[in-house]
Amino acid sequence: MVDAFSRQGSELYAEDVALSAIATQVGTPCYVYSRAIIESNWREYDLGFGGHPHAICYAVKANSNLEVLRLLADLGSWFDIVSGGELERVLLAGGSAGRVVFSGVAKTAEEMERAIGVGIHCFDVESVAELERLSRVAARLGKVAPVALRINPDIDAGTHPYIATGLKETKFGIAIDDAITTYRMAADTANIQITGIAAHIGSQITESGPFIDALVRMLELIGELENEGITIRHLDIGGGLGIRYRDESPPAAREFIETLVDRVRDHRADLTLYIEPGRSVVGNAGVLLTGVEYLKSNGDTHFAVVDAGLNDILRPALYNAWQNIVPLQDNPELRSCIYDVVGPVCETGDRLGSQRELAIEAGDVLAIMDAGAYGHVMSSNYNSRPRPPEVLVDGGKFHIVRRRETISDMTAAESAPPQD
Ligand SMILES: *Cc1c(COP(=O)(O)O)cnc(C)c1O
Repeated sequence: MVDAFSRQGSELYAEDVALSAIATQVGTPCYVYSRAIIESNWREYDLGFGGHPHAICYAVKANSNLEVLRLLADLGSWFDIVSGGELERVLLAGGSAGRVVFSGVAKTAEEMERAIGVGIHCFDVESVAELERLSRVAARLGKVAPVALRINPDIDAGTHPYIATGLKETKFGIAIDDAITTYRMAADTANIQITGIAAHIGSQITESGPFIDALVRMLELIGELENEGITIRHLDIGGGLGIRYRDESPPAAREFIETLVDRVRDHRADLTLYIEPGRSVVGNAGVLLTGVEYLKSNGDTHFAVVDAGLNDILRPALYNAWQNIVPLQDNPELRSCIYDVVGPVCETGDRLGSQRELAIEAGDVLAIMDAGAYGHVMSSNYNSRPRPPEVLVDGGKFHIVRRRETISDMTAAESAPPQD
């Protein structure tokens, strides 16, 4: 694996570029991604499959910047999408429709029509009602829609409740107890062709156990379906591994995939295995640079007030997530202090990190680490703050792959009622 961001002397680098140079030229807040790390992360998955038939369907929602999608498409990646907007992004980035799987509980008729029209690889269908709608849309177009049913295997992935999706009380998928009857129904539904089966048990899962449990349940189910005369060509095991934000120790992607492939081979050597990693492809490949505006103290609490807020990076506020925060330049002259690192947004929850020991002064730039996944994609204009730019580093060069929003970008879609 390519080493993530490294310190050379007192300076933090992305590949061969000093992050302080980017902060100076592009300003803060600003997202920075490393091309080499993204590519290396994706390749680790690929290597794990060896010669086994597979598809790595990058989960677009983790980071949908067009240049990120383009470099993954160039590697041969497939894509997992959850909206019509993500489909358009994949196509704009040069991804091929035939390598797209479409997940999500609320696909609209318009989204289905477009996806069938461009010829996506498969729909991961999450309910009987969705199956019926898809059948009607496909019939109207005179087409057959390829389908995998997303089964909810009722597995506790031991992750944050907001991102655990494989328990039966979540909204996702079709309950495993209803799987066989729903497959029978799908087999009898006009304009639907069954191609596979899918599951997705959650995100930021840092051990193999829950994935293997899900895999075993799905393999059993595939056997039962075969007895019913229903052929499953691919098994989609859903999202990828969690990453190390603090002290988690997820397995390496390559060994993890080798373990899964061994299980699949024992069962059926010709079963194509899909995985849909998002976080583990882009998470550690990105940082958010943020400038220190002020240092202040309220009683015993010291605050570093920075120029990035929860509108720029939501994970700390939404999931109480911990992400490392480090200064771009070490300054041994400064005395360190314990700070709450807080943003400009008018919410007490706008805290990017609490109780962090930092040796900093106003004007310094900090890097919020591991911000490549579920970072910019979750940003908003809350407090009428323009969303930050995104920069892609490639060796010794960097490029702005999304410019900073302007005030006119923010107000462009608004209009006044006609005056009469
Ligand atoms: C979010 C999501 C993923 C990606 O999960 P990661 O943990 O980022 O790898 C994959 N598949 C589906 C259906 C998802 O909703």
